[in-house]
Amino acid sequence: MNYDFFIVYTMKKSEDYWTNLYKHKDIFMRKMMIHVLLVEDSPSDAKLLHQIFVHAYQEVQMKHVERLSDAIDLSLVGNQLTGDDSNNETLKQDKFDVVLLDLGLPDSVGLDTLKEYRAAVPDIPVVVLTGVDDEELAMQALAEGAQDYLVKDQITIQRLVRAIRYAIEREEILNKLRESEEISRQALVKKQQLNELKSNFVAMVSHEFRNPMTTIRTAIDILQNQNNLNEGRKNFYFERVQDAINHMLQLLDEVLFLSRTEVAKLEYKPALIDLISFCEEIIEVFKMKAAGQQNITFNYEGECNLTYMDEELLYCILTNLISNAVKYSRPQSNVRLNLNCRDGMAIFQIQDEGIGIPEKDQVNLFQTFYRASNVRRIQGTGLGLAMVKKCVDIHGGEISLESQQDTGTTVTVKLPLNYSGESK
Ligand code: ATP
Ligand code: MG
Repeated sequence: MNYDFFIVYTMKKSEDYWTNLYKHKDIFMRKMMIHVLLVEDSPSDAKLLHQIFVHAYQEVQMKHVERLSDAIDLSLVGNQLTGDDSNNETLKQDKFDVVLLDLGLPDSVGLDTLKEYRAAVPDIPVVVLTGVDDEELAMQALAEGAQDYLVKDQITIQRLVRAIRYAIEREEILNKLRESEEISRQALVKKQQLNELKSNFVAMVSHEFRNPMTTIRTAIDILQNQNNLNEGRKNFYFERVQDAINHMLQLLDEVLFLSRTEVAKLEYKPALIDLISFCEEIIEVFKMKAAGQQNITFNYEGECNLTYMDEELLYCILTNLISNAVKYSRPQSNVRLNLNCRDGMAIFQIQDEGIGIPEKDQVNLFQTFYRASNVRRIQGTGLGLAMVKKCVDIHGGEISLESQQDTGTTVTVKLPLNYSGESK
């Protein structure tokens, strides 16, 4: 077909034809400018399409390349356009709304051309140009993700316009569908995590509650049935009952706290705090509990006495980390809490000289119920660090851990001193 003749012929059509065509103008009016990338190695076909656009609408801007590799490069550059580039006209012109893709190019032939383009640039709609009236190829192209196809010999302005309009609209709908699928997927993941937490909790309750319950039942049996117990022995069993109950209460508190963070009910509520006296009070309590077993100290540097932080989150972070440092250390060893306030950050370091954590376990420690392989008979549920991580996240901070088995552990927590709670 002689395309020049076709154009002239088309242009000579009746006045009605042009009036009709202009009805399609609304297609493009919604977008001020439609950017089309034409990938076509035949100069005459490219010229024809160019002329169609020139004669039809001013609002269409077409860029033409002959090779698939150039089309991919150009599309990827355009897709990297950011808000900062929005005034850069050159870049803006390379952000394409639709691609007209010939399947027979110097560097790729047939359906592979489409597959390769879609794999590299999945989010720009493609209208395939076929040289022959090959229905089967066209169908395969649609199955491979092309939005439409045009048989070159049969292109009219109306067909071209319609194909472009539908391609853009379909892609927009598909993108919205993808977005809502992603939202549902995330909601599902959240739900699965919650379900996992619940089933882990059931498994943990049956396991972790069994021991203290048995302890309580045995102690009560003895207290009830053995009349010859002296005061000392009686107190011993009462204390065991108390310990078992305290253990179960702590477990319940931890699970409840974690479930609050899971369903996002734990909010960041900052207030003015004197960090130094806050830490000193916590350390005093730990010293009393440790009763001289470990040497617990607190040191600070910088301006830490007037900070704007969340007390509840901070308390959870520090008490869990210090409790670990004490629990996993031998008697007479040192446990240190160091605080340094600088550059708008509070940096807490909790150091111990305890059993350390094997390297293979370190990556999983922030998961609920995870415990390292070297804990032996030291009691715990594996919830403390998961809680700490949640609290640090809510407080807009970071946590890292360095540990060497049989040498000791240092946990570093960095929290912003005046975090507004809006970012992150
Ligand atoms: P709890 O929920 O009562 O705190 P836990 O101490 O076992 O139980 P986490 O605080 O979450 O649980 O700690 C997870 C695991 O990380 C521990 O079981 C332990 O194996 C390891 N761990 C944490 N801190 C230390 C530490 N300072 N020294 C050695 N191991 C540690
Ligand atoms: Mg712990």
